[in-house]
Amino acid sequence: MIINADLHLHGKYSGAVSNDMLPRTIGEQAKLKGLNLVATADILNQKWMAEIKKNLKEEGGVLSDDSGTKFILQTEIEDQNRVHHIILFPSLSKVMEVRERISRYAKDLDTEGRPKVHLSGEQIAEIAIEAECMIGPSHAFTPWTSLYKEYDSLKDCYGKYSDRIYFLELGLSADTDMADRISELEDITFLSNSDAHSPWPNKMGREFTSFEVNEISFEELKNAIMRKKGRRPILNVKFDPREGKYHRTRCMNCLVFYSLSDAESFKWRCPICRKPIKKGVAERIEELAKGRRTIHPDHRPRCLHIIPLSEIISLAYNIRTPYSQKVQEIWRRFVEKFGTEIEILIRSDQDELKRIDKNVADLISAFRNNEFKYVPGGAGRYGIPVPPGKKAVYKVWNGTKAIEVDVRDEESYLSQPSITDFM
Ligand SMILES: [Zn+2]
Ligand SMILES: [Zn+2]
Repeated sequence: MIINADLHLHGKYSGAVSNDMLPRTIGEQAKLKGLNLVATADILNQKWMAEIKKNLKEEGGVLSDDSGTKFILQTEIEDQNRVHHIILFPSLSKVMEVRERISRYAKDLDTEGRPKVHLSGEQIAEIAIEAECMIGPSHAFTPWTSLYKEYDSLKDCYGKYSDRIYFLELGLSADTDMADRISELEDITFLSNSDAHSPWPNKMGREFTSFEVNEISFEELKNAIMRKKGRRPILNVKFDPREGKYHRTRCMNCLVFYSLSDAESFKWRCPICRKPIKKGVAERIEELAKGRRTIHPDHRPRCLHIIPLSEIISLAYNIRTPYSQKVQEIWRRFVEKFGTEIEILIRSDQDELKRIDKNVADLISAFRNNEFKYVPGGAGRYGIPVPPGKKAVYKVWNGTKAIEVDVRDEESYLSQPSITDFM
């Protein structure tokens, strides 16, 4: 069977997370989105664990609710170097075992969903692996809390456990074309997860990974991530990386984009406003690739870019927020007809979409045909998808001053090695 899995979420006890992020709402919304397996999120937090146990049933290590959505036991941990890791657990007893071993090193285990643990990546990997869990880096290339903001290799982070790391989460600002420029990742399975802080379908499942498995269990998921016994990942579905918050190198204050070499020559201070320039994921990968172009290993599945349906509807009707009543109403009409949002975005037939709403159908088709442009994300601001023909501008440093670029003047942005190359 083929399953759609989103393996990184946060519950309502994590900072800046919606109060709607509750087990039952997650399960119901996952079903409408088209996800078969989601993460429990934050399972090391006692209050959240109680919430999970009260609302879900455990069988064979995986939990489930009345809607049929399955949950895998999961947490994110921040280590002593502010690197984030995802842990997937085989059972609630292993959750307790890991909790026990890290509790001495974590002050906020029950006040946070994502605990800060005063241990290195290698020490955390040791604890996780000894408890038969799987562990790997979260949003691996982002500039604040990721493995590659701190280290140049998996080995530098995980030490003697680096060959027991079987997955890496790409994060919203990278995709497989970008990450496959790094040779040490050839054998690693890439996960695309939402890292959602709210259960609504423009957040949860905005990224997910499809796997081929025989049933939904920890063992089957582990085999799929390790690509054993014929189980395997078959598709990464994610944002266009240009929409990610840290895609390009950008001034934190005046939001001008810089090339890697310009940012270096200015010592990461914006020459216009003197505020810090934040390194983008594209430029970090550029450094790590050391001139290597994209080489996909044979096992690498296709990577498909999507845009949440409510965002497409907002764009089709020029409505600012995807939470408005009109957007929700159109969204419901589509989902009632097609069953799930994933079905609509990926597989649905153009003529059938048109019967529900022509404007939205046309934009879905434009997106599928790669006709969208982007104001790229950077410095913590999401990128902005721009429908074909629409004007949108952003500022880039051209070597001597900041100049305005209109997205309509861009040519195949992603194939350009640097933002300044097309000016
Ligand atoms: Zn994180
Ligand atoms: Zn600036």
